[in-house]
Amino acid sequence: MTNRTYYKTVNINSTGPKTSETSILIIYTGGTIGMDSHPENGSLIPFDFEKIIDAVPELRAFDFELTVISLDPLIDSSDITTDHWVQLGNLIEDFYEDFDGFVILHGTDTMAYTASALSFMLDGVHKPVILTGSQLPIGAKRTDARENLMSSLEIASERDDNGEMLVQEVCICFNNKLLRGNRAKKSQNFNFTAFRSYNYPSLAEAGIFIEYKRETFWKDPINSPVRSMKKFESNVLLLKIFPGMSKDFINQMLNNKKLRGVILETYGSGNVPTSSWFIELLEKTVKRGVVIVNISQCTGGMVMQGHYATSAKLNKIGVLSGKDMTTEAAVTKLMCLLTKYKDTESVKKLIGIPLKGELSV
Ligand code: ASP
Repeated sequence: MTNRTYYKTVNINSTGPKTSETSILIIYTGGTIGMDSHPENGSLIPFDFEKIIDAVPELRAFDFELTVISLDPLIDSSDITTDHWVQLGNLIEDFYEDFDGFVILHGTDTMAYTASALSFMLDGVHKPVILTGSQLPIGAKRTDARENLMSSLEIASERDDNGEMLVQEVCICFNNKLLRGNRAKKSQNFNFTAFRSYNYPSLAEAGIFIEYKRETFWKDPINSPVRSMKKFESNVLLLKIFPGMSKDFINQMLNNKKLRGVILETYGSGNVPTSSWFIELLEKTVKRGVVIVNISQCTGGMVMQGHYATSAKLNKIGVLSGKDMTTEAAVTKLMCLLTKYKDTESVKKLIGIPLKGELSV
């Protein structure tokens, strides 16, 4: 195992030797799941994972090795940056051969972005990388953390009949559902069903048994050793259109010289205002070599450029359809493609092709 400075490792298998050969790495990044109430003032403070067996004694029932690595410092996921994504990718790359599965404990706010980013950053992954978190801290009485953690670990350790890891992609496991990471969205901040996948079915559902829907699984066609991206193109813009948007503001944003890509969040099936200033500005931006991808503001359904006259012009001026991708998937995919390819043509070609199961054809 390689040593890096930004984490500390705790082996939580205090329950004696295990008979199973499976070993899972838990990567704890922060978020509500890892919070505990301060004994005196009740404020939320990071939970000490060395005490996880006390908080979740059910972990003893697992017949496999569990190791926890904590990011140092722990973060609220609102503070996640592309540097953290590179760190997470490096951890999976570095420890890929040492573990059979990976469970990442992450705040829910940006979990869908991180899951999407990891799916595009990592090539050659044939083991489960499961992100989970919770709406209530792990120490809280009615916490959903235990359930989410236990289901994630069980799924991450599951093998198929040939002894291969059953799930081989980046997923989010939350409230008894396993979702493809780059199809999931945070849809609730109040009840336990925090995530939904509007355009793709769940990969598994946990009831009395865990029911896997194998026909929905993604298998990375890349079979070379696992590699993760080491940097990110951040010169992208997420632009949500709205009635009455200011020409001046939009002008300033799109005319920024550093801009390389735009995710344009449009109405309905990909419609935009037909005002000439807006269409001409988009056209000029595309001509400058900026990649513009059309994603719907609707949570379900897909962009159908040309279905209405209000989107037909976008086809003509070279705005690309993001089809049924989530905004989170589109933003991170565009960042990854712009990092990997300096020529815009390759980026344009790949944006509408499913690279990690993120869109339907
Ligand atoms: N703000 C928290 C976070 O995303 C919320 C959560 O974990 O659910 O880190």
